[in-house]
Amino acid sequence: MRGMTQELHIVGGGMAGSEAAWQAANMGVRVVIHEMRPKVKTFAHQTGNFGEMVCSNSFRSDDSEQNAVGLLHWEMRQAGGLIMQTAQTHRLPAGGALAVDREAFAQSVTDALTAHPNILISNEEITELPSEGQWIFATGPLTSAALGEAIQHETGADRLAFFDAIAPIVYAESIDMSVAWRQSRYDKGETDAEQKAYLNCPMTKDQYEAFIDALLAAEKTEFHEGETAGYFDGCLPIEVMAERGRETLRHGPMKPVGLTNAHKPEQKPYAVVQLRRDNALGTLYNIVGFQTKMKYGAQASVFKMIPGLENASFARLGGIHRNTFLNSPTLLDAQMRLRSRPNIRFAGQVTGVEGYVESAAMGLLAGRMAASEILGRPLPEVPQDSAHGALIHHITGGAEAKTFQPMNVNFGLFRPLEGLRGGRRGRRDRYKGYTDRAKAVWEVWLAQQGVDGQAAE
Ligand SMILES: Cc1cc2nc3c(=O)[nH]c(=O)nc-3n(C[C@H](O)[C@H](O)[C@H](O)COP(=O)(O)OP(=O)(O)OC[C@H]3O[C@@H](n4cnc5c(N)ncnc54)[C@H](O)[C@@H]3O)c2cc1C
Repeated sequence: MRGMTQELHIVGGGMAGSEAAWQAANMGVRVVIHEMRPKVKTFAHQTGNFGEMVCSNSFRSDDSEQNAVGLLHWEMRQAGGLIMQTAQTHRLPAGGALAVDREAFAQSVTDALTAHPNILISNEEITELPSEGQWIFATGPLTSAALGEAIQHETGADRLAFFDAIAPIVYAESIDMSVAWRQSRYDKGETDAEQKAYLNCPMTKDQYEAFIDALLAAEKTEFHEGETAGYFDGCLPIEVMAERGRETLRHGPMKPVGLTNAHKPEQKPYAVVQLRRDNALGTLYNIVGFQTKMKYGAQASVFKMIPGLENASFARLGGIHRNTFLNSPTLLDAQMRLRSRPNIRFAGQVTGVEGYVESAAMGLLAGRMAASEILGRPLPEVPQDSAHGALIHHITGGAEAKTFQPMNVNFGLFRPLEGLRGGRRGRRDRYKGYTDRAKAVWEVWLAQQGVDGQAAE
């Protein structure tokens, strides 16, 4: 067999590690999976199986024409992905979603990896970043404490987070600019772009009071058992701020000072909601300081009370979870290697993507990248217009490093298509345009590598 010169070590047998191992092993590379379960447990996993789904049993939408997650499904299927293949076998009826029998699914993933002639399994916790060999760390949102410390030691404490504090992200095109205006507080900044870096949505006193009432009344999500609420420094959920006093938000993230309503300069807003650009493309904006534990349904209706956001479309809603993740835009190169230690790659949720599907997708890429490096056969660049490409481009470069928070795949990460109608009316055609373009470039990328990544040399 070709390429048996160096083995690939993969730490973590979750969604990302399992997919990475499958891809690399199918390319002819010998793989060792180091998985700490069942010896060392996490608060969320229940078994020692690979590919365990810790909460929902759904891989979300399976629509590859109108949905970015469905498009990732499609791309992974085309690439012979283990997670999608196994999900298809254990599929349960769930409308347009890809839901599975979770136990049968994880058992099958485990069986497939265990039976693979190129894969060895070692049940142990890895607590260091090795200086030699090729490694992929796919240890997920619940990376063990000892390994977390080792990563922090390498990257600096402020580059590895243990909780996310996700503010909702809005598609720029859905913000009503006849209400919102561009301005940084006190016009701070050297350049025009800096001085107009934020979008501002003004509120009258009545609108503010109604907004606070809605925040207080909204349904909230509880932390999972074992998921301690250590988030209370510096990133309080907005509803908790509102509970502390009706004026708290007006003195915090919604303070109206240093801002003049460009549409109505004579009217002083009572409060202002600010949105900050979230990606280099300028297609996404996050609502500054609006991390929240409100349920998704409640978030959509409460945030649409904000003037200018009445018709907002959300690329991602807010949340706060126990979640270990790297500041990937500063730490990882385009090949998902740690810049300071290129023998180490990261994959999955720890790279700052969010969700089973996105994590498996980043595993697929990391597995192929590492195997190609071992085989001495450079992998063609992942096409940016595919769903995989849009996501990896975001986490390794397109995202704002300073405010980096985990990201789901969504069409806001895709390069805009010229000549298609904007706004809600054009949405169906636009999404079809994105998915057609993605499928075409993904097919080319796969064809360049040959069957199962065994590229023609
Ligand atoms: C409580 C909770 C609920 C969630 N609910 C959902 C949901 O409903 N839907 C969804 O899409 N996503 C959900 N997620 C996110 C989900 O966990 C991820 O999307 C997905 O599982 C991440 O895949 P991964 O491979 O990166 O990590 P995981 O699937 O978590 O796999 C990481 C693996 O690494 C192992 N590991 C960790 N540290 C070490 C070490 N030092 N040495 C060896 N092995 C180690 C772990 O045991 C684990 O098996 C949830 C996360 C949490 C914490």
